[in-house]
Order: sequence, then C-alpha cells, then structure tokens
Amino acid sequence: MGYIEPAPIKDKENPFESMMSRFKIAAQHLGLNEETYNVLKSPDKQVIINIPITMDDGSIRVFEAYRVIHNNVLGPSKGGVRFDPNVNLDEVKALAAWMTWKCAVVDIPFGGAKGGICCNPRQMSSGEIERLTRAYTTSLFEVFGPDTDIPAPDMGTGQREMAWMMDQYSRNSGMTVNGVVTGKPGVLGGSAGRVEATGRGVMIAALSALEKLKINPYNSTVAVQGFGNVGSHAALLLEERGSKVVAISDISGAYYNKDGINIQQAVAYRLDNHGMLEGFAGAEKMDVADDLLTLPVDVLVPAAMEDVITMRNAEKIKAKLIVEGANGPTSARADDIISEKGIVVVPDILANAGGVTVSYFEWVQNRIGYKWTRERVNRRSDRIMRSAFENVYKTSIKYNVTMRIAAYIVAIDRVAKAYSYRGGF
Ligand code: GLU
Repeated sequence: MGYIEPAPIKDKENPFESMMSRFKIAAQHLGLNEETYNVLKSPDKQVIINIPITMDDGSIRVFEAYRVIHNNVLGPSKGGVRFDPNVNLDEVKALAAWMTWKCAVVDIPFGGAKGGICCNPRQMSSGEIERLTRAYTTSLFEVFGPDTDIPAPDMGTGQREMAWMMDQYSRNSGMTVNGVVTGKPGVLGGSAGRVEATGRGVMIAALSALEKLKINPYNSTVAVQGFGNVGSHAALLLEERGSKVVAISDISGAYYNKDGINIQQAVAYRLDNHGMLEGFAGAEKMDVADDLLTLPVDVLVPAAMEDVITMRNAEKIKAKLIVEGANGPTSARADDIISEKGIVVVPDILANAGGVTVSYFEWVQNRIGYKWTRERVNRRSDRIMRSAFENVYKTSIKYNVTMRIAAYIVAIDRVAKAYSYRGGF
C-alpha cells in the first residue's frame, strides 16, 4: 500500500501575514479602534475536516479540507471552494479575509469565507471528485446555508462541482435549496453572466484605470498570466474593447505575439486541446514562462494564483498598470517596490470583485425565484464595478495612499461601521 505525501508548500510569503500587513496599514490610516481591529484580525470560525473517499481502484484516501468563515457582520459569509494540492489553512484564512474586504469594497451584503480541499483534481476521475465534493458538503451541512454561508467556485472548481454541492445540500435538507451555492449551471438557478463575471469585472477595472492614466485602450498592450476562467475572459473582453493582448500563459508555458494574439482562437484551441495552450500556433512559446510578467506592456493581468509578483521580479516589472485578476498575486513585500516605480495597481479585492458581485445577483435571483437577462446582470455588475473603482480611486487621493491601501480603507470602514451600529460585544 502506498500513501500519498502531501504536496510541498511553495516557497512563498505567508498569505495571511501578507493580508494582515495591508490590513494594519489601512487600519492605522482609518484610526480603527483596537477592539474592532482585534475582532477582525482573526477569523470567526475555522473548520478542518478529514474526508475518507473510496478511490476508483478500491483504496481509501483521506483528504484534508477546510472552511474558514472570516466575518459575517455585513451578511451571510460568501466565498469559493478551492481544489488544489497546495491548499493549506493559512492560505484559506487569507482568502476568507480577502472575501470580507472584497464584498465590502463593492458594497454587497455579504461577509467573507473560503473553503479548500487539499487534492489534485487533474489526477482524479470525475467519480472521485464527485464523491469528495458530496462528502465535503455533507460534513459542512451545519455551516453552509443560504442565510449563513454560501460557497462558490474557485481554483479547480466550476459549475459541475457547484451542481453537486447544491444537490447534496438539497438532499440533506429534503428540498431543493438553490440559494445555498452560486456559480451553478443555468438550469439549476445559475445566473446568466456568472461564468465570465470575474473576467468582465477585470476588464471594467482595467478600462477605468486606463482612463485615469490617459491611455487609449485601442493603443494599449496587455499580458495576461493564467488562462483559466478569469484570465481567458479578461483577455477576450479586453481584446473586444480594442486592446492588443500580446501574451498569455497557462501551466504549459507562456505564449507571445507582438502583433497581438487572436484570443478567440486561443480559447477555441485550448478547449479542443484538453484545456491546455501547449502547441498553440497563434503565438510563440516563450523560453521562460515567468518572463511574461516583465514584458514591456501597458497592462499586466496576473490571473493565476498568489505570490507571482514578489521581491524576485518586482524591480523588473515594466507594465504601467497591474490589474489583479487572481487573489493575492502581489506579495506584500513587493508592494513598495511596485509603487515606488510608479506602477498603478488595481488590487485584487477590487479588480476581481465582479465574480462575487454576480454571485450576489445569483443569490438574489434564487431568493425571488426569477431569472434576470444577461443584459441586466452585465449592466448592474458593470455599474457596481465602476462606482467601486471611483470610490477607491478617490479614497487613494484623499489619504494619499496606493489603490490597494485605499481599497482596504473603504472595506474596513464599512465593516467597522456595521460593528459600531450592531455592537453587542
Ligand atoms: N472565488 C471567487 C472569488 O475569489 C468568487 C467567490 C464567490 O462568488 O462567492 O472572488
């Protein structure tokens, strides 16, 4: 019998400390009282479970899984569930806190949570993933609920897993409860526009920032790291708005074309090619994939994972604007270097909030039992993204801070206000 070693944790900054260092700076600017600071610095609840699953070969494997509720003062906690071999408690804690700030930045009535299962879905069959997803949902039956804690897709999960979660929760409840999960397939109460929502929000954030920088999108060049749900939709929509996307990447490598990559073709190729860009003829494969991050482009969209812009490469970044499609792509230690270089960063908790915004619309539609058109969803989410951007931009000028710290200031201020009204400690 062989047992599976946990995957090694990548050489990176502790994501929770990274989150906390920004939180501290913003809290100081705001003059946040110590009581609220102490409440917000640790998550409300952290659940760790071990899930035994029968694998297709008959063996039984135990998977470690988490759900962290950071805060729910603004409403039920909200946040995705990540299936990834590197998932660990510190990461999930940081991601849960980021959800609190993200929902508060765009002013939607949700708190923050995040879940994760330490597994490699690429090496599992669909049956194994289904059993794991259902067991996870049943273990967390007391935590999840449309009025308490609402999961959604994240890295390694999508509509398929959300359908299983919704079904399993509904079976356990003895009735169909579609508002317990967002990011579901349309027939199960999923919202029009949810799949592309995060990428769409990234596009709106990028265009808003380009306008401030007085760069015409039609003359702008873009590099997108990560060609999953967020990166591919951001690239498609930016291309549609006139930008030239010169580089894209996925786990197979980075691809460059100085004349612009035809993103529609890249998306179609990837679909036909088992979800991989390897062999894509519309661009040249770069020798070193990480060099995508240091290309001389106007806009860099890191849309893959945490800690890709770090002390190692921050000095070499040449983009004028970074729009964070991923959660936590810039390490806290790299923040200062980036801002000293005059690079504008639209931070993750603002730039990628389009996803949770449309999740909120999905939940609203489920509660009223009615479906909105794609036009209505897009119009409303674009409006939320634009006004959140303006608010953060103005705050950055008022406090003379980066947009990242400004976004934390906006978020923490809303959460702190909610505490001041609710009180009850
Ligand atoms: N996982 C996404 C995020 O990090 C979406 C969360 C949600 O829709 O609840 O923002």
